[in-house]
Amino acid sequence: MSTTPTSLRITLLGYGSEGRAHALNLRDSGFDVTVGLRPGGPTELKARADGFAVKAPADAVKGADLVAVLTPDMVQAQLYRDVIEPNIRAGAVLLFAHGFNVHFGQITPRDDLDVVLVAPKGPGALVRREYEIGRGVPSVYAVHQDRSGRAEQHALTYCGGIGGARQNAIRTTFKEETETDLFGEQAVLCGGATRLVQLGWETLVEAGYQPEVAYYECLHELKLIVDLFYEGGVTRMHEFISETAQYGALTRGPVVVDDHAKAQMKQVLAQIQDGTFARQWIAEYQAGNAQYKALKQGDLDHPIEAVGRKLRAGMKWLDGATAAKAPAAP
Ligand code: NAD
Ligand code: MG
Ligand code: MG
Ligand code: MG
Ligand code: MG
Repeated sequence: MSTTPTSLRITLLGYGSEGRAHALNLRDSGFDVTVGLRPGGPTELKARADGFAVKAPADAVKGADLVAVLTPDMVQAQLYRDVIEPNIRAGAVLLFAHGFNVHFGQITPRDDLDVVLVAPKGPGALVRREYEIGRGVPSVYAVHQDRSGRAEQHALTYCGGIGGARQNAIRTTFKEETETDLFGEQAVLCGGATRLVQLGWETLVEAGYQPEVAYYECLHELKLIVDLFYEGGVTRMHEFISETAQYGALTRGPVVVDDHAKAQMKQVLAQIQDGTFARQWIAEYQAGNAQYKALKQGDLDHPIEAVGRKLRAGMKWLDGATAAKAPAAP
């Protein structure tokens, strides 16, 4: 198999948050890209409008040197069984953007395949935006199965094609990527940050402060702090905030997010490591997602959302923001 950009035939299954960004970047990097989607599925028109050759998943898999699995994690096991394994050519490369199914034993890839992981550490919208401005999102990559002796090279080729290797690409394992990705999104990035914002906002509003002022303090301004973290860590935040803010943060932050929170984080990590979380999520999905939908509705119905919608209507600079159009999970 050749790994020069123009001769490696890549099929992407899925054209959502990650799939679209990977497809556009790989094409701009000179690769031959086919998108495999269910006819009439929700993103088929989008892929066609972007100018891609769209085929039914089985047909798209047949002609590929590398198949990237970019559908939701919960449909991948069945997709592998029904579509990928019967159609992928001998010795091809099977690529994932998250190690969940391989690590937790939901997919056992055929013996002749190279099996690799390339995971940009950022949502799809950012993967595309950073590529367009000539930068890139840092990525991790891993090799689960190396039959050709060139699996690592294939992962790096793909990583470079989506713009990842321009930055520090770090070699990891399926286990490390899966467990750290789940922990990050649960404890800190999505679960932890959301809860911190909601509880802070509720505390101010219940004490009688205006909901709009509380929104600015607890949600809107978080971006300014996160931008400082992103550029220069906690050090940079301390360089930019007032002495009063620093003293308050240093003495009160650990009161709110205390040793109990860390003990709970260790518990959350333990349930990821021992497979409890994976079993629970798979069972929930298979039972129709009643709890998942109800919990999500709770977030969408939280009163801070209505306040935010009203205030953001006046923030004209948000109109063209990629993240505003395509919110995505890490
Ligand atoms: P998504 O929900 O945004 O998109 C899923 C795509 O798959 C859609 O095009 C959908 O139509 C298609 N699809 C759904 N079921 C299908 C089926 N049975 N057959 C064929 N196509 C089907 O998904 P996503 O968030 O881009 O996640 C894709 C993968 O990338 C996952 O493994 C995820 O863990 C990983 N990942 C996501 C992010 C992120 O920020 N969203 C970041 C890193 C890694
Ligand atoms: Mg302030
Ligand atoms: Mg202040
Ligand atoms: Mg992540
Ligand atoms: Mg994730």
